[in-house]
Amino acid sequence: MHHVIIGNGIAGSHAAQVLRERNPDGKITIISAGALLFYNRYDLPDVFRGRCDWIDYLVHPPAYYKENKIKLRRKSLVTEVDTNKRTLTLAHREVMSYDQLLVATGGAAYVPERLLEFIPLMHNFNNFRVAMEMRDALPDGGTVVMLGGDALGLDLARTLVETKHRVVLVAGDRTFWPHEVNPETRPRYMQALEKMHFEVIDGKQVDRVEQKNGKGPARRVVFDDGSDLPADVVMPFYGLSPSIDFMSNAGIDIERGVLVNPQLQTTRDDIWAAGDVCQIWSPEHNAYRFFYGWKNVKMMGEVAARNMTGDDVAFTTALDEVLQIQPDGTITSPFWDYD
Ligand SMILES: Cc1cc2nc3c(=O)[nH]c(=O)nc-3n(C[C@H](O)[C@H](O)[C@H](O)COP(=O)(O)OP(=O)(O)OC[C@H]3O[C@@H](n4cnc5c(N)ncnc54)[C@H](O)[C@@H]3O)c2cc1C
Repeated sequence: MHHVIIGNGIAGSHAAQVLRERNPDGKITIISAGALLFYNRYDLPDVFRGRCDWIDYLVHPPAYYKENKIKLRRKSLVTEVDTNKRTLTLAHREVMSYDQLLVATGGAAYVPERLLEFIPLMHNFNNFRVAMEMRDALPDGGTVVMLGGDALGLDLARTLVETKHRVVLVAGDRTFWPHEVNPETRPRYMQALEKMHFEVIDGKQVDRVEQKNGKGPARRVVFDDGSDLPADVVMPFYGLSPSIDFMSNAGIDIERGVLVNPQLQTTRDDIWAAGDVCQIWSPEHNAYRFFYGWKNVKMMGEVAARNMTGDDVAFTTALDEVLQIQPDGTITSPFWDYD
């Protein structure tokens, strides 16, 4: 049995571990577009606390993969899946066959269409390399303008403030994503952001991001009313968009993410999906839903691996998804808890 897992984030890596525990002799291959072994992305804001060696972020020691007979193919982008032949194609045209496939490719930062042309002027923070680039671009005490302000961005913003940087949040309808905040309670949450020492701009639309030359901040955010804001770094935090391009011709059902039943099986018997890439059927909501957060994603890796090896268990969320306002007036998200 050759289990192939696409993605070495939490979902894919935890699934590999459970598959190995349950099937000591099966062949397990993880394919990852990234260059690094599985590392803890939740801790990446620590690059601002001087933790700048990627080795410090590894979840398992490098020997783990050999000891557990898990083959990890790094820098390998899957571009296509042929579900009839049970093969997948990598960007360098290598074709690999699988008996069972787990899609755990997570998501990438979503950027609204009207801002796509400004991506080269914005920084991202979703892997170690780009986190270090962003850190290098930000002078001590410098200004970060966060567009959107999803829960991932707010988590980073907390560290930036603690490490004496200035955070300006341009709020909009994706602020707090994936939490849902209704219009009545929104003002309380916006106040809480200010309590956390973020400067908040609300009710303005970004028109463009510009590069500035010469001395001073490298960027300028221009709003639709003509006002502008200098920034050392501009970052989009509008939530995630599932990484599914390579599945578009695979013949499995996809809405925004890969659709799976509560057992995390797709519309093909030999393909499962777990983590930020999948939308799970929720009988409670009578809809396919995304479930975010470290605990949920890890649980999905476990559920998929168990079902791939003969169990019949359903995913149930491990998290209360409500954004909390603490007694000191600041916000905490259950998505920020991990161990
Ligand atoms: C800085 C930072 C802080 C965060 N903080 C929090 C937090 O506090 N709380 C929280 O809930 N979430 C947080 N997140 C989000 C969290 O990391 C994700 O929800 C979680 O990692 C999802 O896990 P996953 O395994 O589904 O996918 P990912 O961790 O995104 O892993 C996907 C993997 O798939 C690979 N991949 C993608 N496409 C392909 C392809 N075509 N071919 C081959 N490989 C591919 C990628 O290289 C990657 O290895 C944070 C993210 C970042 C970047």
